Amino acid sequence: MNCPFCRHPDSRVVDSRTAEDGTAIRRRRQCPACERRFTTVEQLTLAVVKRSGATEPFSRDKVVTGVRKACQGRGVDEDALARLAQRIEERFRGAGCAEIPSNEVGLAILEPLRELDEVAYLRFASVYRGFDSLADFEAEIAALREVS
Ligand SMILES: [Zn+2]
Repeated sequence: MNCPFCRHPDSRVVDSRTAEDGTAIRRRRQCPACERRFTTVEQLTLAVVKRSGATEPFSRDKVVTGVRKACQGRGVDEDALARLAQRIEERFRGAGCAEIPSNEVGLAILEPLRELDEVAYLRFASVYRGFDSLADFEAEIAALREVS
């Protein structure tokens, strides 16, 4: 980052602050040559790493789309879905992760979804936790009964 005043190629960080929502870092810098101060903003991207190794930007819309399918016919409204997706994003940003494996995203959805709707949770869990028998469902339902 060149100094915007004298083009000096180096600068010293005087102060750095993370935006409240965790999406950016503001840095106050000082140029060692002309001693003037300036601010830089670094956008923090949150990437999802797919099983193939490819990465794509984290998308709340994708979370909502995935969860909406599991919520079909359950009377869960769009606001609740949007809040759930926001919670997931804030959780990852709060943890300071820059890259998240895609299956972690699925797992992170489970708990808030269970609070939202138990049937939708079971549908979603059957995919993300690889339920492959009735016994898996029964064990999960037994666990749900213990919680509630
Ligand atoms: Zn300078």
